[in-house]
Amino acid sequence: MKPPAPPQGVPELPAEAGEALLDWFRTHARVLPWRTTPRDPWAVWVSEVMLQQTRVATVIPYFERFLTRWPDARALAASELDDLLGAWSGLGYYRRARALHAGAKAVAERSEGSLPTTFEELKKLPGIGDYTAAAIASLAHGERVAVVDGNVRRVIARLLALRGALDSSKDHARIRAIATRTMGQLPPGAFNEAMMELGATVCTPSSPRCETCPVAAWCVASRDGLQRELPETVRRPALKTVRSIAIVLRRANHLLLARHGTDGLFAGMWAPPMLPRPIRADARRALTSLAGGALRWDDAGRAGEVRHVLTHRVLEVEVVACRVDGAEGLPDLSGLPSVATDYSEARWFSLSELDGLALPALARKILHASKMIEVGSEGGVSREG
Ligand code: SF4
Repeated sequence: MKPPAPPQGVPELPAEAGEALLDWFRTHARVLPWRTTPRDPWAVWVSEVMLQQTRVATVIPYFERFLTRWPDARALAASELDDLLGAWSGLGYYRRARALHAGAKAVAERSEGSLPTTFEELKKLPGIGDYTAAAIASLAHGERVAVVDGNVRRVIARLLALRGALDSSKDHARIRAIATRTMGQLPPGAFNEAMMELGATVCTPSSPRCETCPVAAWCVASRDGLQRELPETVRRPALKTVRSIAIVLRRANHLLLARHGTDGLFAGMWAPPMLPRPIRADARRALTSLAGGALRWDDAGRAGEVRHVLTHRVLEVEVVACRVDGAEGLPDLSGLPSVATDYSEARWFSLSELDGLALPALARKILHASKMIEVGSEGGVSREG
């Protein structure tokens, strides 16, 4: 089948550039656990979701554990979201996990019980957008559709010296058209992966290695010395800073954690209770009752400060830690103003229960700063501290 004619105004790359890219990929592709032959659409889906905003080295152990536990979409659909959030703990961007769970449930409800095979049908699943649909359709099913992620956008911007931030949906469509045109009759999955690999390993954001690049002969940015200027970045407004106090309460071998409600950044996840800073008198009272009346506020020590950068804001969290006696009953959260969202419940967890619990990275940082227990960066929580 002939590739579609490019929309008006879409610059083209010569077919030789695509062929050179593919030759390079055949000998330089990294060995990664999701690059199986043939490609498993479920593994493509999981890996692409995990790789969004997260480094390959971080993703690999999570991916391997995930595929062992949930070898297909139906297995994940049959699991509780809490189990998935626990397994995702430390990987961050938990919306991805919730979307994957919703998508797996939708797959399980299909009469075939398997993933759709085309770009257009895949996009109908919850949590699957253009990028993931294109990756699954091209890598697992050979559909002629280009994947456009940050790596591909950067490579094409430099190859053709495209100006502007290239972050609007119109720019996105234009880059997809250029990539599709360059793909031509080459194998779609290999071409897409080669483009992403080039951006991840050679045409990197700050140190492009043009001297070893397989497509340098066709690259306008390299020819004109523009590779570090492109793609152009837009100046973004300064991130808003949100200040709060996290309270880490330990009773014998138990920690008090509160669960965020169903909306918001940390929806459904557990963390030490956080209050707006400066702390108000009513919050102090609520916190004292939260600890079953056992907390003497003056005994609570400032343990440290945590800074956590999110996409749109910076969280500065003062960590206060205290050991309490008593407080056997379930805590009452009424009257406790939370920072990010309303809490749905609170519980005393034994330290052995913390492994596998859905703790966001911020909660791990807070627990680490509290010095009440030892917390590893990827989910490990020591029994004693
Ligand atoms: S020649 Fe340099 S700037 Fe051009 S695509 Fe290759 S690494 Fe990127």
